[in-house]
Amino acid sequence: MAEVGADVVEMTHIAKRFDELVAIHDASLSIRAGEIHALVGENGAGKTTLMNVLYGLLPRDEGDIRLRGQSVSFRGPAEAIAAGIGMVPQHFKLAPSFTVAENIILGAEPMKSLRRIDRIRAESEAAELGHRFGLDLDPKFCYDNLSTLLEHTPPEKTLWIDMEQSPYVDVTLELFRRARKSHANIGVCLQAYLFRTEKDLDSLIPMGAAIRLVKGAYNEPAEIAYPVKKDVDENFLHLAQRLLSPEARRARVRAVLATHDRALIAKIIEWTASQGVPKDKVEFQMLYGIQRAEQIRLAQAGYPSGVLVAYGTFWYPWFMRRLAERPANVLFLARHFFSN
Ligand SMILES: Cc1cc2nc3c(=O)[nH]c(=O)nc-3n(C[C@H](O)[C@H](O)[C@H](O)COP(=O)(O)OP(=O)(O)OC[C@H]3O[C@@H](n4cnc5c(N)ncnc54)[C@H](O)[C@@H]3O)c2cc1C
Repeated sequence: MAEVGADVVEMTHIAKRFDELVAIHDASLSIRAGEIHALVGENGAGKTTLMNVLYGLLPRDEGDIRLRGQSVSFRGPAEAIAAGIGMVPQHFKLAPSFTVAENIILGAEPMKSLRRIDRIRAESEAAELGHRFGLDLDPKFCYDNLSTLLEHTPPEKTLWIDMEQSPYVDVTLELFRRARKSHANIGVCLQAYLFRTEKDLDSLIPMGAAIRLVKGAYNEPAEIAYPVKKDVDENFLHLAQRLLSPEARRARVRAVLATHDRALIAKIIEWTASQGVPKDKVEFQMLYGIQRAEQIRLAQAGYPSGVLVAYGTFWYPWFMRRLAERPANVLFLARHFFSN
């Protein structure tokens, strides 16, 4: 490791042209050990191009790059990585058709032989990175489990994926999208309390996904989620309207509204009736044993209705974790236990 204060990276008089277009002209940057720099500029100013040149993604037309005093010319990212330069690209640099592990190793693939990637090592390295940075979800393990479950799911039944806390939303949606390519009978849960959910919905509607909309069960920070219940309820209604819009119905979206909130259910029913949405497209789901009278009323009125039953050897830890995440759930449960 370089001594703090020593020059580590020196880029001098760098120029990069794409035919007639001058992307960078006479750019110099010097970074000493221990420093953190921010490269600020307008869109098109050449910031990413300069970093791509440093990272070996693009050859420079002019100028010099010195790394710890040595002049370097990387022929690709692999050489830059080997020399200790890493780059975290913007999300649109990720290859959507690649798995999480494939995206992580891109440019630094562990090789079995000259031409064959060592997939087992790649996946275990990706999993190890996940653990190290608190992402306790091994994407490969999850996907394999999901595939096994899907193989055992009859085509007329839907396999639903729950949504956990916000750090898991991207990975969960990626697992869902990947599995959906081969199995149409898979659904995913989206949480109305997250600001991002409308965008997620927009990306899932065109594929005609099965979506179970819930308010959300975890305590999320106010930077990413509505902290006030009234706003969550309003967003739920808004998202339910998107899920039942003519566009979504044309795309054959399956809209499942998983809530016990009777006032909200009444608003949804009022809105769908005013829009002429057929009752069989408005599906409600609740937890087993909660609001039973409402469940029966909805089913008798002609709305497809379902209950979620926790089962299997892990039902108890799952249930306790849900209760522990949000103390309000304990109160709800106690109230229903005594009223039923
Ligand atoms: C089928 C289903 C799947 C779900 N999947 C997920 C998921 O994947 N991820 C996730 O974050 N959340 C999930 N949830 C939980 C959801 O996010 C809410 O936390 C939960 O449903 C409570 O919100 P609510 O819409 O019922 O409205 P609230 O306003 O919270 O509740 C309305 C009323 O319903 C009653 N009530 C609500 N919940 C309970 C309860 N547990 N026990 C007793 N009474 C209750 C109370 O009377 C309350 O006043 C799921 C819920 C259901 C029904």
